[in-house]
This record gives sequence, C-alpha cells and structure tokens, in this order.
Amino acid sequence: MSEYILVVEDEPALQETLVYNLKKQGYEVEAVSDGLKALEAARTHPPDLIVLDIMLPGLDGFEVCKILRKEMSVPIIMLTARDEEIDRVVGLEIGADDYLTKPFSMRELLARVKAQLRRTELVRQVMEKVKAGEEAHKIFTFGNLSIDLTRREVTLNGEVLPLKPQEYELLVFFAEHKGQMLSREFILERVWGWDYIGDSRTVDVHVRWLRQKIEPDPANPKRIVTVRGGGYRFEG
Ligand code: CA
Repeated sequence: MSEYILVVEDEPALQETLVYNLKKQGYEVEAVSDGLKALEAARTHPPDLIVLDIMLPGLDGFEVCKILRKEMSVPIIMLTARDEEIDRVVGLEIGADDYLTKPFSMRELLARVKAQLRRTELVRQVMEKVKAGEEAHKIFTFGNLSIDLTRREVTLNGEVLPLKPQEYELLVFFAEHKGQMLSREFILERVWGWDYIGDSRTVDVHVRWLRQKIEPDPANPKRIVTVRGGGYRFEG
C-alpha cells in the first residue's frame, strides 16, 4: 500500500513539480492551494505526510500546522521562503517535523519525505509491539483486587498482597472459574494435584487464609462464598 501525501502549495509551477516527483516515487499525492482546503483535505482523507508551504492565501501554513497538530500526529514538512519563517518553524511553537528553505532540490525534498515516513513507520512498529506486550500481560481485575499472571502478583487497593504459593494458585483457580460452584475435591485435584496426600480440609484452611487477605469482612465473605453441601464459589 503506497503512502498518501498531501501537498499544500499555492505556486502552480512548484505544486506541479512536487506532485510529479512524489508520484514518480510511488506515493499517492493530492495537492491543494490554500490553507482552508488543506484542513478540509487532511480531515477528509488523513495523509501519511504533509508538505506545507507557509505563505498561503487565506489561512497560512503556520495556522494550518498548529490546527492539524491538535487533530492528528501526521508528520509535517514545512516549506519556508524567509529566515524569520525558519525561526518560527524551528522555535517548536508550530510543531512541524522538518523544514526546507526555498529554493530546494527535489532530491533533498524526497530524502526528507522518506526519512519522515520511515520514522513514522518505526514508531508504529514500536507501538504495535507495546500493544502486543500488554495483551500478553494477562491481568484479572475484580474491583479493587487484581491478579497479574505474568508477574504472579496480587494487589488489593494497589498494594501488593503477600500470598503463599498455594494461596496464589487457589486464587488464580477461583478467578478462572468465577461464578462456578467448585467442590472441595475438584479444587484439591486441580490446585494441589492428583498425587497430593491430604484431604479437603486443606482447601478450607487455604480459603480461610485467602479470605483474611482479600475479604473486607472475613467473617462475612462476599468474594469467596461457601455453597452449602457443595464447596465454594468465587464471586469476584
Ligand atoms: Ca506560497
């Protein structure tokens, strides 16, 4: 998929040269000749990059740049004609990513365009990796209680709860079966394993310990409730 570039330049000859050379590089290009049309074009079809002249009829390039900065993170290369314009562009108040002083060579412009697009692509790739990492970082959240499976860490009201390994395993098992009635035997098998030598009172003891750590009122549990004649149910 080719990248889409918006060219904003009111000098017909320069606009034509810019469009011709960018298209020759394989970019999709649209050109407009004034600031208001630039805003409209960028909003209708968000570009991957904008080449923006400063001296434009109506709204000038500085204004266009400032407005678009608040709306999108597109890279903007400004075309300046005078020294005082450069001062404003590099003064960061505008938020442009790069600038070229007229007259400039097409080779220079194309190199800057390529550099900006490559930078955007790198940022996009990093963001994707960060997002993928967050998804892999599985966290259960039940109100003020959260269980981070990657870090094997349980927090209550943002504070880390010191849990023994079996308490942690039991809590994770409950979290994975929220709302289900779980018999003591089933919990024992799944959390402690088939070969565990002990009885279902082990489960009761650990449930009592967990309640003391995660229930606001352990004597009147709301998170891990006892099901008469059955076992336990985790309510979240
Ligand atoms: Ca101009």
